[in-house]
Amino acid sequence: MTAASVDRESFPTRFAREVWRLGRPLLPFVAVFLLLDLGWATLVNFLAGAVHVQSHAASHPGQADAVDAVWHLATGLIVAIPARDRRLYLLAPALSLGLDVDHVFGLVVPAAVSRPSHTLLFVALAVVVALAWKGSWMAFGVGGAVLTHLAVDGGSLPLLAPVVFSRWTLSPVVEGVLVVFAGGLFLLALGRHDKRIRDPRAWVELGIIAVLLAIFLALVGPLTWYSLLSG
Ligand SMILES: [Zn+2]
Repeated sequence: MTAASVDRESFPTRFAREVWRLGRPLLPFVAVFLLLDLGWATLVNFLAGAVHVQSHAASHPGQADAVDAVWHLATGLIVAIPARDRRLYLLAPALSLGLDVDHVFGLVVPAAVSRPSHTLLFVALAVVVALAWKGSWMAFGVGGAVLTHLAVDGGSLPLLAPVVFSRWTLSPVVEGVLVVFAGGLFLLALGRHDKRIRDPRAWVELGIIAVLLAIFLALVGPLTWYSLLSG
């Protein structure tokens, strides 16, 4: 391809080309993450079944799944903004949305535990796999993405499954703190030598994002706007 033909490309074409160039190397890890998530969800449901745990049914109305997907894509992107890393702009939304693959349980097959991968132990597993396979950038990236999801998901989460099957609901303050922590992991993903992590402006941005998301969750939590949109 000549330089002239590249110049003639429209913005959407160049944008799609750039997304593909940055995103393609991430696809194998995203695929493995989705399989890990499903495997984990199966294990948790199997163990819960073995000890006769009967948890809540699906916690979101089914027709709101598209809204839920947009919410996780958008918040994954927003929390990654202070990092100014285009690969994270793709990875964070993809994995933040990807965590919800465990909704297969409850929506498609019977579930003993709803949202079985929404647990800190799955976060730890995903981070260890990412670290061993792809190194620290991916480990911080997946940790930030999954914690962003947990921070803004609303409802009750089986945070310690399958060790304990109790469920916890995060307060807006905890959600805000978790957003800052997740965004901090994105900054750490850039590496020790990147100036961004020592730039107070990155942390101020992160603080503003966390406060706005926490206020939004407190005033119009996702469950509320699901019900508004789905009538
Ligand atoms: Zn979720």
